[in-house]
Amino acid sequence: MGTRPLLNRRLAGMGTTIFAEMSALATATGSINLGQGFPDTDGPEEVREAAVRALRESRGNQYPPGPGIPELRQAVAEHQQRFYGLAYDPDTEVLVTAGATEAIAAALLALLEPGDEVIALEPFYDSYAACIAMAGATRVPLTLRAPDFRPDLDELRTLITPRTRLLLINTPHNPTGTVLTADELTTIAGLAVEHDLLVITDEVYEHLVFGAAHHPIAALPGMRERTVAISSAGKTFSFTGWKVGWVTASPALVSAVRTAKQYLTYVSAGPFQYAVAEALRLPGTYFDTFREDLLRKRDLLADGLSAAGFRVFNPEGTYFITTDITPLGETDGIEFCRALPERCGVVAIPNAVFYDDADAGRSLVRFTFCKKDEVLAEAVSRLRRR
Ligand SMILES: *Cc1c(COP(=O)(O)O)cnc(C)c1O
Repeated sequence: MGTRPLLNRRLAGMGTTIFAEMSALATATGSINLGQGFPDTDGPEEVREAAVRALRESRGNQYPPGPGIPELRQAVAEHQQRFYGLAYDPDTEVLVTAGATEAIAAALLALLEPGDEVIALEPFYDSYAACIAMAGATRVPLTLRAPDFRPDLDELRTLITPRTRLLLINTPHNPTGTVLTADELTTIAGLAVEHDLLVITDEVYEHLVFGAAHHPIAALPGMRERTVAISSAGKTFSFTGWKVGWVTASPALVSAVRTAKQYLTYVSAGPFQYAVAEALRLPGTYFDTFREDLLRKRDLLADGLSAAGFRVFNPEGTYFITTDITPLGETDGIEFCRALPERCGVVAIPNAVFYDDADAGRSLVRFTFCKKDEVLAEAVSRLRRR
């Protein structure tokens, strides 16, 4: 095979995701997995039944239409109108994807030229760095720093260069739990307009905000035509295995993203698309109860982690809590997380893997709270005995 590395240079160093490593450790040690963010209970029964019905009635068992089934595109458009007053044409301004992950990949692959720069909030969700690299572009981090994890918008201004093509934001933000405020988004939007930048916004936790409100940047002046908004059914409806996501954007942007998307998966998840169309139309009580439930779990885990000696940064959104392990006499989150399953049977994720600037995240560790109350309680009691 010669001496040339098999994995290309763009992906070098991106071996196995930390989630694969830590989930394997969880299985091998029989640990409670508070690493990867997936719920340990399924979403609403009626949504599950809608998927079964679609499957039985042969709706979606063969290739669905490339942009997504009309029922789902219509439901996505209604959802944007209902929650944010944003009007999208389901035929030209909505695109269904294989989860938010494919939407992110397709958008970056479609919109970037090699050599372009992308400014993204660091710590990054792990697929951002890989997809920016696959597009041949360069990521430029705007680092969110403890204890507040707010973006420094003066710094953002200095990071913009003639090569900057787009801003990649994520609100509510995984892993810090930061929810960008209306003021922060207004400043970011102003910079995007001033420098004629595109914006990709990952809003998969849009319904998981505690107290603070989620604001879509697409609603701000001058942003409708330059924003690719991305969301997904996985987090909102607790069906992370279904991989149904969507893009809302102008016809020109949707058309560009669809061009890349059609050669990645072409289509996906036929019967689940019908079920998600029903899920998006659930009454407000579903969304309120879901949020209240997660808020209770957040507080349960936050209190437990504090009692176990961690410094807890209480998240305003998402289903993750970032902690600092310094008060435990520890300094290195990666070592800490590798040892934790053996020590006490709990798996967590070291935030350092989400940073280019390894020092900024060295002592930070992320736990998820989208688990049953008794699982969280047991995890906390194990962590106290650590
Ligand atoms: C989970 C997650 C995704 C992936 O969503 P899928 O719909 O499962 O592909 C994307 N972005 C963030 C920030 C996430 O946490």
